[in-house]
Amino acid sequence: MSAKESRNWLSDLTVEHVNALTPYESARRLFAGSGADAEQVWLNANESPFAGEYAVDSSVFNRYPDCQPDTVIKAYAKYASLQASQTLVTRGADEGIELIVRAFCEAGKDSILICPPTYGMYAISAQTFNVGVHRSLLNNDFSLNIPDILSYVSKVKAVFICSPNNPTGTSVSQRDIVEVLEAFKDQAIVVVDEAYIEFDIAQTQTDLLGKYENLVILRTLSKAFALAGLRCGFTLASSDIIQTLLKVIAPYPIPAPVAQIASKALENQGLAKMRNDVEVLKAELISLRTTLADIGDIQIIGDTNANFVLFRTQSKTELMAYLVKHKMLIRDQSKQINLQNCLRITIGNPAQNKTLLALIKAFFADGNQ
Ligand SMILES: *Cc1c(COP(=O)(O)O)cnc(C)c1O
Repeated sequence: MSAKESRNWLSDLTVEHVNALTPYESARRLFAGSGADAEQVWLNANESPFAGEYAVDSSVFNRYPDCQPDTVIKAYAKYASLQASQTLVTRGADEGIELIVRAFCEAGKDSILICPPTYGMYAISAQTFNVGVHRSLLNNDFSLNIPDILSYVSKVKAVFICSPNNPTGTSVSQRDIVEVLEAFKDQAIVVVDEAYIEFDIAQTQTDLLGKYENLVILRTLSKAFALAGLRCGFTLASSDIIQTLLKVIAPYPIPAPVAQIASKALENQGLAKMRNDVEVLKAELISLRTTLADIGDIQIIGDTNANFVLFRTQSKTELMAYLVKHKMLIRDQSKQINLQNCLRITIGNPAQNKTLLALIKAFFADGNQ
């Protein structure tokens, strides 16, 4: 059978909305095969430059793990000042997004609301399950367009708000979040994605969980905790919502080594490392932003509440190519609504940030644009 015939057979068999999907373009996948991994400096996926050291106890690996490992749940609940019953551990915050879509949205019928420019996985998760996606664009200052969002009451089952927002680094005010929670009360789940909250911890919305039954907060160990490779995230919500999500989660989502390492990262010493890393990265971010603003036609966009800097330059294509040539990988955000010509730099360690700045200066000085 020819390749063409076999493709027809397969696409005929494949669910229609799945045929229309394209695999997720992760920051890493975009540059796969672009050279020896070790030579590249990865400042494109908002990962931490500061890996920790962990040992695992393999003596339990012959057994299935608990669905919700007790030590991890208790440690995270304590860290977030919540009850264990309000805490769910998942394969990254991404799985939390997927569970919400699967538990609350009916395929081919229901929709979610997202507020772009924002994180891409809300729309991707919805599309994967044939759930509709409505968009309410952020205002020019990247705050929520509240009247527009409220016009979706009774039209969507979940509203996704990212705060601090990726890729703008802006946080949403509690006043705005409360307004959305009130408007969608008994109507829809309001998800506040706090993947970067450790960089702006004063603005966490966890204090609202006791009052608003439709609030869900997403957290992760992938960013400030420097454990993106672990794939471990948390969903914080009322115990009723957690019980609902437990109906759709896989039986053994958290591998035993992941549970061991996550528990360790949430002990006092792990928390102290994370808080120290956050301070270092915040200082680097402020200094990088200040220096960048004076280079070429660079215009800084957004705010400082996460571990990345967003900027605009008319030379974004040439600058990206120049940085790739010098093995420095940042992320193109220019395809996002309202982010034409924008690039995003993840804050690296001081040496990486210094190298990056020197390259960007050289690019503009040499008239490459
Ligand atoms: C990185 C990121 C996530 C995904 O986190 P994982 O725990 O690695 O799945 C979720 N939301 C936002 C806004 C992110 O930037």
